[in-house]
Amino acid sequence: MSHSKAAPVLIDRFGRTVDYLRISITDRCDFRCVYCMAEDMTFLPREQILSLEEIYWVAAVFAQLGVKKIRITGGEPLVRKGALGLLQKLGQIEGLTELVMTTNGSQLEVYASALKAAGVKRLNISLDTLDADKFKAITRTGNLKQVIRGIQAAKSAGFQRIKINAVILKDRNHLEVIELVRFAVDLGIDISFIEEMPLGVVLQHNRAEAFYPSAMIKADLRDSFNLEPSLQRTGGPSNYFNVIGTDTQVGFISPHSDNFCSTCNRVRLTAEGRLLLCLGNEHSVDLKQVLRAHPGDAETLKQVIIEAMPLKPERHEFTLHEQPIILRYMNMTGG
Ligand code: SAM
Ligand code: SF4
Repeated sequence: MSHSKAAPVLIDRFGRTVDYLRISITDRCDFRCVYCMAEDMTFLPREQILSLEEIYWVAAVFAQLGVKKIRITGGEPLVRKGALGLLQKLGQIEGLTELVMTTNGSQLEVYASALKAAGVKRLNISLDTLDADKFKAITRTGNLKQVIRGIQAAKSAGFQRIKINAVILKDRNHLEVIELVRFAVDLGIDISFIEEMPLGVVLQHNRAEAFYPSAMIKADLRDSFNLEPSLQRTGGPSNYFNVIGTDTQVGFISPHSDNFCSTCNRVRLTAEGRLLLCLGNEHSVDLKQVLRAHPGDAETLKQVIIEAMPLKPERHEFTLHEQPIILRYMNMTGG
């Protein structure tokens, strides 16, 4: 396959260049986090999700359209059979400068070194608490010790950066933020705190009551750490602070309290092959249908992707007080 090194061609109506693709390679997961899934989930039948070959093909075409960064996510990407083989192939796509992954860490003890060897540069690992009982309560099926061992394996494997992602919910884990930052500092890794987003219907907690804004986390941390705004801009939604005297950065992803849409550079491919133009809106294009109607036809796929760009909305509109307008859960979306 030839790879163009021309200027980026994916630009939306608001002048934002899209050079970052997030791919959810499965909607399945070994955890059932309370903010992400219902306890009793029905997952998609296999024929409805993209094959690994189809995912690779879409990724390669996006790279030809100027995409430089791909994040593999899910569901839990490492529970999909063949995930490692896919990452090895993605790692060889010309023009891709960053192949990264988001994982719950449960399989990292087994896969960390192989992922590094495949060319995965950075890992985001989700960890909301260091208390085993709370961890069980939040993930419903997760095992904290296994995840900690996974994080340590990732550290030993020598990734460029590792970042913990923690979704903070009031009265569930908001008292843990200092301990979580200490954990990150001790390991020399980064951490981002995320405000919960209203994706899918959750029954176990009231999202408005569980809302714990980034500003409060920042205030909670100030007594224990010296935080200084970081000059580094990643183009992503995180607002970073250096923890003075350490190698750690603390980020805040604040979809409610600090809208980050104006710099959005990303689109998402769902497990079933829908190209989502915005996390907080339903604007999408069915790429699976295009892939299956025109197998091996890169030009048609490119055209459909280029024509999808004007659908990218200006911003998300999340509301905490009504039932969500977005009925898909984060595991479908690829967080
Ligand atoms: N299973 C992997 C994991 O947990 O890291 C990857 C997929 S998960 C959907 C990606 C990220 O989305 C995780 O950090 C998770 O905490 C976050 N997430 C899930 N549901 C969310 C929600 N409703 N609001 C905010 N973040 C959410
Ligand atoms: Fe699974 Fe990640 Fe969703 Fe938790 S946040 S249920 S680990 S996909």
